[in-house]
Amino acid sequence: MGRTDDKNVIVVGGGIGGLSAAVALRQQGFDVTVIERYPDLHSSVFGVGIIQPGNALRALDAIGCAEACVAVGYPAKQWGRMLDVNGDHLRDMPGVAIEGSKFPPLNGVTRPQLHEILTGRALAVGVQIHYGTSFAALEEGPESVTVVTESGERLTADVVVGADGVRSKVRQYVLGKEIEPKYIGQSAFRVNIPRLPEIDCIVLQVCDAGMAGFVPIGPDLAYMFYNAHFGVHERIPEDQLAPRLREYLAPFGGLTGRVRDEFITDDVDIVLRPEETMGVPTPWHKGRVVLMGDAVHTITPHLGQGAAQAIEDGVVLAEELAQNDRLDEAFARYTERRYERCKLIVDTSLNIGEWEMGRLPGFDNIGATNHVLEVMAQPL
Ligand SMILES: Cc1cc2nc3c(=O)[nH]c(=O)nc-3n(C[C@H](O)[C@H](O)[C@H](O)COP(=O)(O)OP(=O)(O)OC[C@H]3O[C@@H](n4cnc5c(N)ncnc54)[C@H](O)[C@@H]3O)c2cc1C
Repeated sequence: MGRTDDKNVIVVGGGIGGLSAAVALRQQGFDVTVIERYPDLHSSVFGVGIIQPGNALRALDAIGCAEACVAVGYPAKQWGRMLDVNGDHLRDMPGVAIEGSKFPPLNGVTRPQLHEILTGRALAVGVQIHYGTSFAALEEGPESVTVVTESGERLTADVVVGADGVRSKVRQYVLGKEIEPKYIGQSAFRVNIPRLPEIDCIVLQVCDAGMAGFVPIGPDLAYMFYNAHFGVHERIPEDQLAPRLREYLAPFGGLTGRVRDEFITDDVDIVLRPEETMGVPTPWHKGRVVLMGDAVHTITPHLGQGAAQAIEDGVVLAEELAQNDRLDEAFARYTERRYERCKLIVDTSLNIGEWEMGRLPGFDNIGATNHVLEVMAQPL
Protein backbone atom coordinates (compact mmCIF):
# COMPACT_ATOMS: atom_id res chain seq x y z
CA MET A 1 0.00 0.00 0.00
CA GLY A 2 2.94 2.36 0.42
CA ARG A 3 2.60 5.41 2.62
CA THR A 4 -0.39 5.27 4.90
CA ASP A 5 -1.07 8.99 5.17
CA ASP A 6 -2.49 9.29 1.68
CA LYS A 7 -4.58 6.10 1.92
CA ASN A 8 -8.13 6.15 3.03
CA VAL A 9 -10.24 3.53 4.72
CA ILE A 10 -14.01 3.31 5.14
CA VAL A 11 -15.12 1.37 8.20
CA VAL A 12 -18.71 0.13 7.90
CA GLY A 13 -20.21 0.01 11.41
CA GLY A 14 -19.53 2.28 14.35
CA GLY A 15 -19.83 -0.38 17.04
CA ILE A 16 -17.12 -1.48 19.44
CA GLY A 17 -15.00 -3.14 16.76
CA GLY A 18 -15.46 -0.52 14.06
CA LEU A 19 -14.56 2.39 16.34
CA SER A 20 -11.54 0.52 17.71
CA ALA A 21 -10.30 -0.25 14.20
CA ALA A 22 -10.89 3.35 13.16
CA VAL A 23 -8.76 4.70 16.02
CA ALA A 24 -6.02 2.13 15.45
CA LEU A 25 -5.91 2.87 11.71
CA ARG A 26 -5.91 6.63 12.26
CA GLN A 27 -3.07 6.26 14.76
CA GLN A 28 -1.12 4.48 12.00
CA GLY A 29 -1.69 7.47 9.72
CA PHE A 30 -4.64 6.37 7.56
CA ASP A 31 -7.51 8.67 6.66
CA VAL A 32 -10.53 6.99 8.22
CA THR A 33 -14.28 7.43 7.77
CA VAL A 34 -16.79 5.41 9.79
CA ILE A 35 -20.33 4.99 8.51
CA GLU A 36 -22.94 4.02 11.09
CA ARG A 37 -26.59 3.36 10.29
CA TYR A 38 -27.94 4.75 13.56
CA PRO A 39 -28.49 8.50 13.88
CA ASP A 40 -26.18 9.20 16.80
CA LEU A 41 -23.68 7.88 19.27
CA HIS A 42 -26.21 6.52 21.73
CA SER A 43 -28.82 4.99 19.49
CA SER A 44 -26.72 1.96 18.53
CA VAL A 45 -25.97 1.00 22.12
CA PHE A 46 -28.07 -1.69 23.71
CA GLY A 47 -27.79 -3.90 26.74
CA VAL A 48 -26.25 -3.33 30.08
CA GLY A 49 -22.60 -3.92 30.85
CA ILE A 50 -19.40 -5.00 29.19
CA ILE A 51 -16.86 -7.29 30.82
CA GLN A 52 -13.33 -6.20 29.95
CA PRO A 53 -10.80 -8.93 30.59
CA GLY A 54 -7.08 -8.07 30.80
CA ASN A 55 -6.57 -8.70 27.07
CA ALA A 56 -9.35 -6.23 26.21
CA LEU A 57 -7.64 -3.61 28.38
CA ARG A 58 -4.30 -4.29 26.69
CA ALA A 59 -5.89 -3.74 23.26
CA LEU A 60 -7.76 -0.66 24.50
CA ASP A 61 -4.46 0.68 25.83
CA ALA A 62 -3.00 0.41 22.33
CA ILE A 63 -5.71 2.81 21.12
CA GLY A 64 -5.49 5.13 24.12
CA CYS A 65 -8.76 4.11 25.78
CA ALA A 66 -7.92 1.72 28.63
CA GLU A 67 -7.24 4.27 31.35
CA ALA A 68 -10.54 6.03 30.70
CA CYS A 69 -12.39 2.70 30.94
CA VAL A 70 -10.76 1.80 34.24
CA ALA A 71 -11.42 5.31 35.59
CA VAL A 72 -15.18 5.11 35.01
CA GLY A 73 -15.62 1.36 35.50
CA TYR A 74 -14.97 -1.16 38.24
CA PRO A 75 -11.42 -2.54 38.14
CA ALA A 76 -11.48 -5.89 39.96
CA LYS A 77 -8.58 -7.51 41.81
CA GLN A 78 -9.41 -10.99 40.53
CA TRP A 79 -11.39 -12.48 37.63
CA GLY A 80 -14.09 -14.28 39.55
CA ARG A 81 -15.39 -16.70 42.13
CA MET A 82 -17.97 -19.46 42.12
CA LEU A 83 -20.68 -20.11 44.71
CA ASP A 84 -23.02 -23.05 45.18
CA VAL A 85 -26.80 -22.81 45.03
CA ASN A 86 -26.97 -21.73 48.68
CA GLY A 87 -24.36 -19.03 48.21
CA ASP A 88 -21.47 -20.89 49.84
CA HIS A 89 -18.02 -20.40 48.36
CA LEU A 90 -16.92 -23.15 45.94
CA ARG A 91 -13.74 -21.79 44.39
CA ASP A 92 -11.84 -18.71 43.30
CA MET A 93 -10.96 -17.91 39.69
CA PRO A 94 -8.00 -15.54 40.01
CA GLY A 95 -7.58 -14.85 36.29
CA VAL A 96 -4.27 -14.50 34.51
CA ALA A 97 -2.03 -11.48 34.79
CA ILE A 98 -0.73 -10.07 31.53
CA GLU A 99 3.02 -9.67 31.72
CA GLY A 100 4.07 -6.06 31.99
CA SER A 101 0.48 -4.80 32.17
CA LYS A 102 -0.48 -2.20 34.75
CA PHE A 103 -4.15 -3.04 34.25
CA PRO A 104 -6.33 -5.33 36.41
CA PRO A 105 -7.41 -8.84 35.31
CA LEU A 106 -10.95 -7.53 34.86
CA ASN A 107 -12.72 -4.22 34.47
CA GLY A 108 -16.47 -3.72 34.06
CA VAL A 109 -18.07 -0.73 32.32
CA THR A 110 -21.48 0.18 30.98
CA ARG A 111 -21.90 -0.01 27.21
CA PRO A 112 -22.76 3.69 26.85
CA GLN A 113 -19.58 4.59 28.76
CA LEU A 114 -17.44 2.41 26.50
CA HIS A 115 -19.09 3.87 23.42
CA GLU A 116 -18.52 7.42 24.62
CA ILE A 117 -14.86 6.71 25.32
CA LEU A 118 -14.26 5.08 21.92
CA THR A 119 -16.18 7.80 20.08
CA GLY A 120 -14.39 10.61 21.94
CA ARG A 121 -11.02 9.09 21.12
CA ALA A 122 -11.96 8.50 17.47
CA LEU A 123 -12.96 12.14 17.03
CA ALA A 124 -9.87 13.35 18.91
CA VAL A 125 -7.50 11.49 16.56
CA GLY A 126 -9.34 12.75 13.48
CA VAL A 127 -11.70 9.94 12.46
CA GLN A 128 -14.76 11.16 10.50
CA ILE A 129 -17.99 9.56 11.70
CA HIS A 130 -21.07 9.71 9.44
CA TYR A 131 -24.16 8.77 11.44
CA GLY A 132 -27.46 7.87 9.82
CA THR A 133 -25.53 6.35 6.91
CA SER A 134 -26.36 2.76 5.98
CA PHE A 135 -24.21 0.57 3.82
CA ALA A 136 -26.15 -0.81 0.84
CA ALA A 137 -23.66 -2.06 -1.76
CA LEU A 138 -20.02 -2.29 -2.82
CA GLU A 139 -18.46 -1.67 -6.20
CA GLU A 140 -14.88 -2.77 -6.49
CA GLY A 141 -12.47 -1.53 -9.14
CA PRO A 142 -8.76 -2.18 -9.69
CA GLU A 143 -7.64 1.06 -8.03
CA SER A 144 -10.33 1.67 -5.41
CA VAL A 145 -13.54 0.45 -3.85
CA THR A 146 -16.82 2.38 -3.66
CA VAL A 147 -19.39 2.08 -0.89
CA VAL A 148 -22.92 2.93 -1.95
CA THR A 149 -25.19 3.95 0.91
CA GLU A 150 -28.92 3.41 1.19
CA SER A 151 -29.51 7.07 0.33
CA GLY A 152 -27.45 6.66 -2.85
CA GLU A 153 -24.34 8.46 -1.63
CA ARG A 154 -21.06 7.07 -3.06
CA LEU A 155 -17.90 7.02 -0.96
CA THR A 156 -14.63 5.83 -2.46
CA ALA A 157 -11.69 4.39 -0.54
CA ASP A 158 -8.56 2.24 -0.86
CA VAL A 159 -9.86 -0.23 1.74
CA VAL A 160 -13.27 -1.10 3.22
CA VAL A 161 -13.47 -2.72 6.65
CA GLY A 162 -16.71 -4.62 7.33
CA ALA A 163 -17.37 -4.10 11.06
CA ASP A 164 -21.13 -4.24 10.70
CA GLY A 165 -21.79 -6.94 13.27
CA VAL A 166 -23.40 -10.32 13.33
CA ARG A 167 -25.80 -9.70 10.40
CA SER A 168 -23.11 -8.03 8.32
CA LYS A 169 -24.09 -7.01 4.80
CA VAL A 170 -20.47 -6.44 3.85
CA ARG A 171 -19.86 -10.13 4.64
CA GLN A 172 -22.19 -11.07 1.78
CA TYR A 173 -19.81 -9.37 -0.67
CA VAL A 174 -16.80 -11.19 0.72
CA LEU A 175 -18.22 -14.63 1.53
CA GLY A 176 -21.69 -14.94 0.02
CA LYS A 177 -25.09 -15.13 1.66
CA GLU A 178 -24.99 -18.63 3.13
CA ILE A 179 -23.08 -17.78 6.29
CA GLU A 180 -25.48 -17.17 9.16
CA PRO A 181 -25.17 -17.22 12.97
CA LYS A 182 -26.81 -20.11 14.85
CA TYR A 183 -29.02 -19.71 17.92
CA ILE A 184 -27.63 -21.99 20.63
CA GLY A 185 -30.83 -22.61 22.59
CA GLN A 186 -30.03 -20.21 25.41
CA SER A 187 -31.07 -16.62 26.00
CA ALA A 188 -29.60 -14.26 28.55
CA PHE A 189 -31.59 -12.19 31.00
CA ARG A 190 -29.66 -9.12 32.11
CA VAL A 191 -30.62 -6.53 34.68
CA ASN A 192 -28.73 -3.67 36.30
CA ILE A 193 -28.65 -3.68 40.10
CA PRO A 194 -26.78 -1.77 42.79
CA ARG A 195 -23.28 -3.17 43.30
CA LEU A 196 -23.49 -5.07 46.57
CA PRO A 197 -20.09 -5.26 48.37
CA GLU A 198 -19.64 -8.97 47.57
CA ILE A 199 -19.90 -8.24 43.81
CA ASP A 200 -16.23 -7.26 43.58
CA CYS A 201 -15.39 -9.54 40.63
CA ILE A 202 -17.47 -11.88 38.42
CA VAL A 203 -19.53 -13.94 40.86
CA LEU A 204 -21.10 -17.09 39.45
CA GLN A 205 -23.71 -19.10 41.30
CA VAL A 206 -24.75 -22.50 39.99
CA CYS A 207 -27.83 -24.63 40.46
CA ASP A 208 -28.88 -27.82 38.67
CA ALA A 209 -30.99 -25.92 36.14
CA GLY A 210 -28.64 -23.05 35.25
CA MET A 211 -26.23 -20.36 36.29
CA ALA A 212 -26.70 -16.85 37.60
CA GLY A 213 -23.85 -14.37 37.47
CA PHE A 214 -22.96 -10.91 38.69
CA VAL A 215 -20.58 -8.41 37.10
CA PRO A 216 -19.44 -5.12 38.68
CA ILE A 217 -19.65 -2.32 36.07
CA GLY A 218 -19.03 0.76 38.20
CA PRO A 219 -18.33 1.75 41.78
CA ASP A 220 -22.05 1.51 42.60
CA LEU A 221 -23.43 -0.47 39.69
CA ALA A 222 -23.46 -4.15 38.72
CA TYR A 223 -25.51 -6.36 36.46
CA MET A 224 -26.98 -9.76 37.02
CA PHE A 225 -27.34 -12.29 34.22
CA TYR A 226 -29.11 -15.59 33.96
CA ASN A 227 -28.66 -17.85 30.95
CA ALA A 228 -31.96 -19.64 30.38
CA HIS A 229 -32.71 -22.63 28.18
CA PHE A 230 -35.11 -21.14 25.67
CA GLY A 231 -36.94 -22.17 22.49
CA VAL A 232 -35.94 -20.25 19.39
CA HIS A 233 -39.46 -18.95 18.75
CA GLU A 234 -40.41 -18.47 22.40
CA ARG A 235 -41.40 -14.90 23.23
CA ILE A 236 -42.05 -13.41 26.67
CA PRO A 237 -44.21 -10.28 26.87
CA GLU A 238 -42.41 -7.34 28.53
CA ASP A 239 -44.59 -7.47 31.62
CA GLN A 240 -43.83 -11.16 32.13
CA LEU A 241 -40.03 -10.86 32.09
CA ALA A 242 -39.62 -10.18 35.82
CA PRO A 243 -41.98 -12.96 37.02
CA ARG A 244 -40.30 -15.40 34.63
CA LEU A 245 -36.82 -14.44 35.82
CA ARG A 246 -37.89 -14.80 39.45
CA GLU A 247 -39.13 -18.30 38.61
CA TYR A 248 -35.75 -19.26 37.13
CA LEU A 249 -34.01 -17.87 40.21
CA ALA A 250 -36.34 -19.62 42.69
CA PRO A 251 -33.88 -22.40 43.68
CA PHE A 252 -31.16 -19.97 44.75
CA GLY A 253 -30.27 -18.77 48.23
CA GLY A 254 -27.33 -16.52 49.11
CA LEU A 255 -26.49 -13.62 46.80
CA THR A 256 -28.83 -14.61 43.96
CA GLY A 257 -31.71 -15.18 46.35
CA ARG A 258 -31.21 -11.77 47.90
CA VAL A 259 -31.00 -10.02 44.51
CA ARG A 260 -34.13 -11.87 43.31
CA ASP A 261 -36.12 -10.82 46.37
CA GLU A 262 -34.90 -7.23 46.59
CA PHE A 263 -34.30 -6.11 43.01
CA ILE A 264 -36.20 -8.23 40.49
CA THR A 265 -39.36 -6.20 40.91
CA ASP A 266 -42.09 -6.02 38.27
CA ASP A 267 -41.03 -2.55 37.10
CA VAL A 268 -37.31 -3.25 36.68
CA ASP A 269 -35.76 -3.00 33.16
CA ILE A 270 -34.77 -6.43 31.94
CA VAL A 271 -32.91 -7.13 28.70
CA LEU A 272 -33.48 -10.59 27.18
CA ARG A 273 -31.17 -11.52 24.29
CA PRO A 274 -30.81 -14.74 22.32
CA GLU A 275 -27.28 -16.17 22.31
CA GLU A 276 -25.84 -16.81 18.87
CA THR A 277 -22.63 -18.36 17.65
CA MET A 278 -20.72 -18.26 14.39
CA GLY A 279 -17.10 -18.94 13.55
CA VAL A 280 -16.44 -18.01 9.94
CA PRO A 281 -13.67 -19.93 8.17
CA THR A 282 -10.93 -17.97 6.42
CA PRO A 283 -10.39 -16.04 4.20
CA TRP A 284 -11.93 -13.00 5.88
CA HIS A 285 -11.11 -10.75 2.94
CA LYS A 286 -11.62 -10.34 -0.78
CA GLY A 287 -9.94 -7.73 -2.93
CA ARG A 288 -9.93 -4.45 -1.03
CA VAL A 289 -12.51 -5.53 1.55
CA VAL A 290 -11.80 -7.15 4.92
CA LEU A 291 -14.09 -8.31 7.75
CA MET A 292 -13.71 -8.11 11.52
CA GLY A 293 -15.55 -8.44 14.84
CA ASP A 294 -18.92 -10.17 15.15
CA ALA A 295 -19.16 -10.24 11.34
CA VAL A 296 -16.66 -13.13 11.38
CA HIS A 297 -16.74 -14.41 14.96
CA THR A 298 -20.00 -14.14 16.83
CA ILE A 299 -19.28 -15.21 20.38
CA THR A 300 -21.80 -16.20 23.04
CA PRO A 301 -21.28 -14.14 26.18
CA HIS A 302 -20.04 -16.97 28.43
CA LEU A 303 -16.44 -15.74 28.54
CA GLY A 304 -17.08 -12.00 28.17
CA GLN A 305 -14.74 -11.95 25.16
CA GLY A 306 -16.85 -10.77 22.18
CA ALA A 307 -15.97 -7.12 22.41
CA ALA A 308 -12.40 -7.92 23.44
CA GLN A 309 -11.88 -9.90 20.25
CA ALA A 310 -13.38 -7.13 18.11
CA ILE A 311 -11.02 -4.58 19.69
CA GLU A 312 -8.02 -6.88 19.20
CA ASP A 313 -9.02 -7.36 15.54
CA GLY A 314 -8.91 -3.61 15.00
CA VAL A 315 -5.47 -3.23 16.56
CA VAL A 316 -3.96 -6.13 14.61
CA LEU A 317 -5.57 -5.11 11.31
CA ALA A 318 -4.14 -1.59 11.61
CA GLU A 319 -0.67 -2.95 12.41
CA GLU A 320 -0.68 -5.25 9.41
CA LEU A 321 -2.02 -2.63 7.00
CA ALA A 322 0.70 -0.24 8.13
CA GLN A 323 3.45 -2.85 7.84
CA ASN A 324 2.63 -4.48 4.50
CA ASP A 325 2.66 -2.76 1.15
CA ARG A 326 0.42 -5.32 -0.47
CA LEU A 327 -3.19 -5.52 0.67
CA ASP A 328 -3.50 -9.28 0.18
CA GLU A 329 -0.42 -9.82 2.34
CA ALA A 330 -1.65 -7.46 5.04
CA PHE A 331 -5.07 -9.15 5.15
CA ALA A 332 -3.55 -12.64 5.15
CA ARG A 333 -1.21 -11.74 8.05
CA TYR A 334 -4.12 -10.18 9.96
CA THR A 335 -6.22 -13.33 9.56
CA GLU A 336 -3.30 -15.58 10.45
CA ARG A 337 -2.77 -13.70 13.72
CA ARG A 338 -6.47 -13.64 14.58
CA TYR A 339 -8.11 -16.86 13.39
CA GLU A 340 -7.03 -19.50 15.94
CA ARG A 341 -7.38 -17.12 18.86
CA CYS A 342 -10.95 -16.21 17.89
CA LYS A 343 -11.84 -19.83 17.12
CA LEU A 344 -10.75 -20.89 20.62
CA ILE A 345 -13.09 -18.29 22.10
CA VAL A 346 -16.04 -19.12 19.82
CA ASP A 347 -15.69 -22.87 20.54
CA THR A 348 -15.08 -22.61 24.30
CA SER A 349 -17.92 -20.13 24.82
CA LEU A 350 -20.24 -22.47 22.95
CA ASN A 351 -19.06 -25.46 25.02
CA ILE A 352 -19.80 -23.59 28.24
CA GLY A 353 -23.32 -22.90 26.97
CA GLU A 354 -23.78 -26.56 26.00
CA TRP A 355 -22.56 -27.63 29.44
CA GLU A 356 -24.94 -25.20 31.15
CA MET A 357 -27.78 -26.74 29.15
CA GLY A 358 -26.75 -30.23 30.27
CA ARG A 359 -25.53 -31.33 26.83
CA LEU A 360 -21.86 -31.63 27.75
CA PRO A 361 -21.69 -33.55 31.04
CA GLY A 362 -18.25 -33.68 32.62
CA PHE A 363 -17.07 -30.53 30.85
CA ASP A 364 -14.60 -28.64 33.04
CA ASN A 365 -16.01 -25.12 32.86
CA ILE A 366 -13.41 -23.59 35.20
CA GLY A 367 -10.49 -25.37 33.53
CA ALA A 368 -11.67 -24.24 30.09
CA THR A 369 -12.12 -20.65 31.28
CA ASN A 370 -8.64 -20.61 32.82
CA HIS A 371 -7.13 -22.05 29.63
CA VAL A 372 -8.75 -19.31 27.56
CA LEU A 373 -7.53 -16.62 29.96
CA GLU A 374 -3.97 -18.02 29.74
CA VAL A 375 -4.04 -18.01 25.94
CA MET A 376 -5.51 -14.51 25.91
CA ALA A 377 -2.70 -13.27 28.15
CA GLN A 378 -0.13 -14.25 25.51
CA PRO A 379 1.05 -11.53 23.13
CA LEU A 380 -1.37 -10.61 20.35
C1 LIG B 1 -26.37 -9.24 25.45
C2 LIG B 1 -24.91 -9.24 25.08
C3 LIG B 1 -23.95 -9.07 26.08
C4 LIG B 1 -22.60 -9.05 25.76
N1 LIG B 1 -21.68 -8.88 26.75
C5 LIG B 1 -20.37 -8.80 26.44
C6 LIG B 1 -19.36 -8.60 27.44
O1 LIG B 1 -19.66 -8.50 28.63
N2 LIG B 1 -18.05 -8.52 27.06
C7 LIG B 1 -17.69 -8.62 25.74
O2 LIG B 1 -16.48 -8.55 25.44
N3 LIG B 1 -18.61 -8.82 24.77
C8 LIG B 1 -19.93 -8.91 25.08
N4 LIG B 1 -20.85 -9.10 24.09
C9 LIG B 1 -20.42 -9.19 22.70
C10 LIG B 1 -20.13 -7.82 22.11
O3 LIG B 1 -21.21 -6.93 22.31
C11 LIG B 1 -19.86 -7.96 20.62
O4 LIG B 1 -18.95 -9.02 20.42
C12 LIG B 1 -19.25 -6.68 20.08
O5 LIG B 1 -20.17 -5.63 20.23
C13 LIG B 1 -18.87 -6.86 18.63
O6 LIG B 1 -18.48 -5.64 18.07
P1 LIG B 1 -18.70 -5.34 16.52
O7 LIG B 1 -18.21 -3.96 16.34
O8 LIG B 1 -18.13 -6.43 15.71
O9 LIG B 1 -20.28 -5.41 16.30
P2 LIG B 1 -21.39 -4.43 16.89
O10 LIG B 1 -21.00 -3.91 18.22
O11 LIG B 1 -22.67 -5.18 16.74
O12 LIG B 1 -21.40 -3.19 15.91
C14 LIG B 1 -21.85 -3.25 14.59
C15 LIG B 1 -22.26 -1.85 14.18
O13 LIG B 1 -22.52 -1.84 12.78
C16 LIG B 1 -23.67 -1.06 12.56
N5 LIG B 1 -24.25 -1.51 11.27
C17 LIG B 1 -24.85 -2.69 11.01
N6 LIG B 1 -25.26 -2.75 9.74
C18 LIG B 1 -24.91 -1.56 9.19
C19 LIG B 1 -25.06 -1.02 7.88
N7 LIG B 1 -25.68 -1.69 6.87
N8 LIG B 1 -24.59 0.23 7.64
C20 LIG B 1 -23.98 0.95 8.63
N9 LIG B 1 -23.82 0.46 9.88
C21 LIG B 1 -24.26 -0.78 10.16
C22 LIG B 1 -24.55 -1.34 13.77
O14 LIG B 1 -25.53 -0.34 13.94
C23 LIG B 1 -23.52 -1.35 14.88
O15 LIG B 1 -23.30 -0.09 15.44
C24 LIG B 1 -22.20 -9.18 24.40
C25 LIG B 1 -23.16 -9.35 23.38
C26 LIG B 1 -24.52 -9.39 23.72
C27 LIG B 1 -25.54 -9.59 22.62
